[in-house]
Amino acid sequence: MQHPPPPVASVAVMEFRGSKSPFDCLLLDLDDTLYSSTIGIRQACKKNIEDFLASKCGVSEGRASALRVEHFRSHGSSLAGLLALGYDVHPDEYHSFVHGRLPYELIRPDAGLRELLLSIPQPKILFTNSDRQHARRTLRRLGVEEDCFHRIICFETMNPHLFKDEREAGSSGPLPATRNVEVILKPSAAAMKMAVWLAGFAPHRTLFVDDNERNIAAGKAIGLRTALVIPPPSPSPAFLGDSYIEQSHVLFLKVGKRERTKEDDYLLDSISELRQVIPEIWGEQEKKGGGEHGAVTTMRRDLDSIRETTPIGA
Ligand SMILES: [Mg+2]
Repeated sequence: MQHPPPPVASVAVMEFRGSKSPFDCLLLDLDDTLYSSTIGIRQACKKNIEDFLASKCGVSEGRASALRVEHFRSHGSSLAGLLALGYDVHPDEYHSFVHGRLPYELIRPDAGLRELLLSIPQPKILFTNSDRQHARRTLRRLGVEEDCFHRIICFETMNPHLFKDEREAGSSGPLPATRNVEVILKPSAAAMKMAVWLAGFAPHRTLFVDDNERNIAAGKAIGLRTALVIPPPSPSPAFLGDSYIEQSHVLFLKVGKRERTKEDDYLLDSISELRQVIPEIWGEQEKKGGGEHGAVTTMRRDLDSIRETTPIGA
């Protein structure tokens, strides 16, 4: 029987101990966080999901789009929705269709990102809902070595039970009706708790960086410190496509109730702003108000108002 790996905290070298940083560890999302949500990968992924739903469920193109949204809202992902409805879909089949066909050439090498990640002294953990092959492929495209991270927490990490073949040996019959097909993904509490356990650091000293507001809210709910990566509004109307609005509606929450927000949340236009907006990671002093990131400082106060938001994704 395979045992879970020990927490990163028990094996990581703590060179940064003694620094003034309030963070012992960083949990970093991958898609739309380490690269921009506007390069076309996100849209291509949605299209692939809809094509998969059409081929698997035999629905029309228009219905597939609505079905993707329904699955996301009711089950957290299309794969989770299909499994819950009884479709015999193996995660590898789904991921090879949905991720394996992505236009990876759109992800360009990012030397600045690599340099940024290497400069962070704390252990870094990649925490993604995507499958491991996609994570590796994406990191390769970005020019970031996998061992830049102390651990990769991905779909397979969170869902080992989905990779056990519970059929009788040699049988091609249906899977047992009692088969556990629950899919564990961000922003579920189970996924967040697993990540915190696998990291092994106190949540209040762990910085969670993600582009999804629901994930950020889930991170806050278990005590993580959080940074939401979200591109700024563009003056170009063409940029305001559905993907952008789905991802960024926090920017448009100018109406409705807003709660007071703790100061320990951050908002980034892109991961490249990490050093400017959160210099505390490196034990450097936080810049106070005004300046280039004055708007960012103001926006971070609004993060507690995002708990009830429902972005539409995969
Ligand atoms: Mg993401």
